[in-house]
Amino acid sequence: MDCCAHEGPGGGDARFDIHKVADGVWAAVASPAYKVNCNTAIIESSDGVMVVDTHSKPSAARVIVERLREMTKKPVRYVVNTHFHWDHWHGNEVYPAAYPDAEIVTNDITREAMVKKGLKRIQDHVRQVPSEIAKLKADIQAASPAQRGKLEADLKLAESYLAEVRALKPALPTIAFEHTMKLYRRDREIHLLHLGRAHTEGDVFVYLPKEKVVITGDAMIGWTPYMGDGYPEDWAGTLDRLAQLDFTHIIMGHGDVTGREWLNTFRSYVLDMVEGVRQEAATGATLDEVKQRVTAKLAPRYEKPFSTYGEYRPWRTGVAANIERTFGMVS
Ligand SMILES: [Zn+2]
Repeated sequence: MDCCAHEGPGGGDARFDIHKVADGVWAAVASPAYKVNCNTAIIESSDGVMVVDTHSKPSAARVIVERLREMTKKPVRYVVNTHFHWDHWHGNEVYPAAYPDAEIVTNDITREAMVKKGLKRIQDHVRQVPSEIAKLKADIQAASPAQRGKLEADLKLAESYLAEVRALKPALPTIAFEHTMKLYRRDREIHLLHLGRAHTEGDVFVYLPKEKVVITGDAMIGWTPYMGDGYPEDWAGTLDRLAQLDFTHIIMGHGDVTGREWLNTFRSYVLDMVEGVRQEAATGATLDEVKQRVTAKLAPRYEKPFSTYGEYRPWRTGVAANIERTFGMVS
């Protein structure tokens, strides 16, 4: 790969703010991007580095590798994937290429989901992005001068994403565990846990008991959760098991580093949304009625806290999708 891939095709919108969370533990928090990137957690131990999740494309993972090389001479030994979604593992291939001894780790359920669903979705992207590009081109033709600049920037990003996803060499996990995997390093313990179904069937949580840090993948994020592959009715219970662990800092799949207060708000949202849908569905209401009533019920408490990212991830769009998913499962 060329020396400056982070500035070249595809890397244009991969930007990360690196925050120290504890000694040797950092969160690389992804800025909003045309093709969303997840956060990466970086854990440096006596014998090497663990990174958690690898973004939506190799060029984004390469940005992290460059930052890592400025931070430490130690090699990356473990790459953890928290779940099978594209924006958390499409950059995997970068790590074994940069660090030949790196192992990619997840649980059995998530590895199987990558094989059965994730690989197919890569081909779906290859097929679908060209029509996204065609639509952007048509939109540019019809756009006012004020809108044009943003659309043209998006077009470049979509084109470079297509080139990257076409060339992707999906790197599947080389180690899969069943329930729990614990690493005992000289200076820290790292627990990889499966606490039940939430954002996907196989969500992996990474827990550092001594540093009191937990890494959640998309079981917790800074905006309205995506439930398209999720289990809304199980989600709050999984977060209850998470809450039983002793920690102070949460590195989420997306959004800034947070703490227990956001866990409470996030869990209550999921619980109240599911409960609202159940109650309305039991009265025989249609999906549209349920959407309208449950959104109105949730808005006073949840619209503001879940709107931190504004138009990038609007709450009302998210909650409508959450209600639809839940309605399909309870009725
Ligand atoms: Zn996800």
